[in-house]
Amino acid sequence: MRVHNFSAGPCTLPVEVLEEAQAEFVDYRGAGMSLIEMSHRSKAYDEVHHQAMRKAAEVFGAPDDFEVLLLGGGATLQFAMIPMNLLKQSELGAYVDTGAWATRAVEDGGYHGDVYRAWDGRDEGYRRAPRPEEVALQPNTRYLHVTANETIGGIRLPEFPDLGVPLVADLSSEYMSRPIPWDRFDLVYGGAQKNLGPAGVALTFVRRSVLETANRELAAYLRYDLHAAKDSMFNTPPVFAIYMMGKVLGWVESEGGLQEMQRRAEAKAGRLYAAIDGSGGFYRSPVEQDSRSLMNVVFRLPTEDLERDFVAAAADRDLVNLKGHRSVGGVRASLYNALPNESVEALVGFMEDFQAANA
Ligand code: PMP
Repeated sequence: MRVHNFSAGPCTLPVEVLEEAQAEFVDYRGAGMSLIEMSHRSKAYDEVHHQAMRKAAEVFGAPDDFEVLLLGGGATLQFAMIPMNLLKQSELGAYVDTGAWATRAVEDGGYHGDVYRAWDGRDEGYRRAPRPEEVALQPNTRYLHVTANETIGGIRLPEFPDLGVPLVADLSSEYMSRPIPWDRFDLVYGGAQKNLGPAGVALTFVRRSVLETANRELAAYLRYDLHAAKDSMFNTPPVFAIYMMGKVLGWVESEGGLQEMQRRAEAKAGRLYAAIDGSGGFYRSPVEQDSRSLMNVVFRLPTEDLERDFVAAAADRDLVNLKGHRSVGGVRASLYNALPNESVEALVGFMEDFQAANA
């Protein structure tokens, strides 16, 4: 039995992918061993690895001048690697602070370069993303870092700002939910454990010209150029996570690609926000209309007690992982690509029943 899984990540994955992996797990394609028991230098794994890299470039429509990197350390290590590799003496990294994850990026960045907040949502209590004209850049800014989707706050950047400075974006909970305007970016990154697969690998796309001038006075693992030169096999890669990611990419391709994922995301989130907005104030979104996330829908109920009851009663109906992040409370329904429409319908039906019983 599969439940309606609204987890923010690791999260629900396409059941077809899980079953395919299960079928070939113990004896990988006649090798007499599983993929995770063989050398990462074996022919079988080499194919898995390069296939995943090719598929990533294809499905994302990444231009030829971007390298695909498969890295350890999650999105979190990228917070440090970006300034380490990109910032030269007297150059600045600008950050748009839209919430918890942007804060982590700018704080970690500060240990490895001169960084500043070009827009700061803290004073407003993180209710929205900025309009492009509100982002204040200083001279000598090397890049502008944005968090495309705040997984905890449920805030999404409606558009990627075009301010004449290359963008760097955390796409962790955004990957594969809309196409990427590549021309504005020097680098995008994200942990896999939302729309891409299990935890254990971060997918980074970096422009080749950036690698040519990237800082090299770094411990080997922290150098983008070395990972690129070795096709992300500089050291032992997270083989199982990469294998699963390759399969999920294939699934997205077979389902119609990023445009189709965007269409589905808009439909699912639209349905849920309509239920929230149509509840006469019983359910309430703390995020301004234009900035609402399609992947992580956060909402509040009239009291924290009701929120607790809601989450518990939902679980009794197999609607699980709806509790908001511990730092903000409330309810959060994550609607990643693999979450079927039926799960959203089941949630909306439950919300109506719960309101009728408790309003
Ligand atoms: N950025 C965002 C937007 C995230 O949602 C997360 C994890 N939830 C991270 C960064 C950190 O990712 P990781 O756990 O892979 O380091």
